[in-house]
Amino acid sequence: MACIVAKFGGTSVADIERIERAADKVAAEVKRGHKVAVVVSAMSGVTNQLVQYCNDLSNSHDEREYDTVVSSGEQVTAGLMAIALQKRGVNARSWMGWQVPIICSEVHGKARIEQIDGTRMLDRFKEREVAVLAGFQGVTEGGRITTLGRGGSDTTAVALAAALNAERCDIYTDVDGVYTTDPRVCKNAKKIDKISYEEMLELASLGAKVLQVRSVEMAYKRDIPIQVLSSFDEAIGSDLPGTLVTREEDIMEQEIVNGVAFTKDEAKVTLFNVPDSPGVAAKVFDALAQQNINVDMIVQNISEDGAVTDITFTVPENELDKTMNALKIDDLKGAQIRTDANITKISVVGIGMRSHAGVAQTMFRTLANKGINIQVISTSEIKISVIVAKEYLELAVRSLHSAYGLDQE
Ligand code: ADP
Ligand code: ASP
Ligand code: MG
Repeated sequence: MACIVAKFGGTSVADIERIERAADKVAAEVKRGHKVAVVVSAMSGVTNQLVQYCNDLSNSHDEREYDTVVSSGEQVTAGLMAIALQKRGVNARSWMGWQVPIICSEVHGKARIEQIDGTRMLDRFKEREVAVLAGFQGVTEGGRITTLGRGGSDTTAVALAAALNAERCDIYTDVDGVYTTDPRVCKNAKKIDKISYEEMLELASLGAKVLQVRSVEMAYKRDIPIQVLSSFDEAIGSDLPGTLVTREEDIMEQEIVNGVAFTKDEAKVTLFNVPDSPGVAAKVFDALAQQNINVDMIVQNISEDGAVTDITFTVPENELDKTMNALKIDDLKGAQIRTDANITKISVVGIGMRSHAGVAQTMFRTLANKGINIQVISTSEIKISVIVAKEYLELAVRSLHSAYGLDQE
């Protein structure tokens, strides 16, 4: 008898019929004797609508009230899922983040989970009660509602799995596993049976939104296997039909490149004529950090005259206004700032890269052959990323997928 956390994403709870199908799967796990906790997202499209309401009212709204509004979608589905389970004779109750409680940091809109008290849920397992938890939300020490950033229900699910000491965290979604790239962009994408935490972490942070980055981070740290699987297929999680995200040593074969990821949500900022003196970069990035802006790629050119230099970096596109405001500092008075949101970052990821040469060269040659200009490059031990113009996204992803031999036969 295992303890399993099962999370259902937006499309898997998009209407009553889908909630019923999801409830059938939970009921089937309970029938097999497992202790199950369920985490649900808002019905598909609902969170977008709630975000839109806040933006329509004001684009500088109070972030605490934003959280109050956007967290509400998950409350509806948690209640509906509990009703659907009860209808199937399963003892179930809903939990909101504040009821557990799921204690989060004060960073509204992208809070981090600090602590989950699973004692009461564990107690109720003895009565064979299924806990249905609203994903994406938590509460601060001071009692205000928070949300975990878009896609955050994945993180709720893994954090709950850790708190309950669960054997596995099943993430039910609209694809039947993790693919070598987004199957919506490349029809030749292949399903991966097992992938290491490290590779999944890179893929997720480089744009494969099938799992929220923090969920993978937490699973890695706490060694909780995640299974990504489809809520539309007949099989249930315990049949292990999906992709298992697990420890590297549990995987027999390692590919050189295991996946291609991309993101369209970043914008490039270039600062020209920045004083080339100690401490200036620190001040620029301090100013961004103070506003909680996540800076990604950073490139600084060699200064030709030793007096001024250029710095290029990328930030989330929706934080561009905030970035421009944060850059109003004295040290940048003489600098020019240029922004470009018409970019995409494309990355190839693979643990095998550590021990193979020529991986970067294949990437650059493939893009060159297609006439795609590379604007920025960055590498780490198991990934290579490039920035190119947005119009080349599909062409670049498909060509790279094929160049690294990832296309399905
Ligand atoms: P949910 O609403 O269930 O949380 P998401 O939309 O957040 O689902 O994530 C699932 C989507 O992730 C898929 O529909 C797919 O288009 C996208 N995706 C991006 N990269 C990948 C990948 N490498 N493998 C599988 N799906 C991917
Ligand atoms: N409903 C939230 C979102 O759309 C959280 C989630 O689905 O994971 O971002
Ligand atoms: Mg998601």
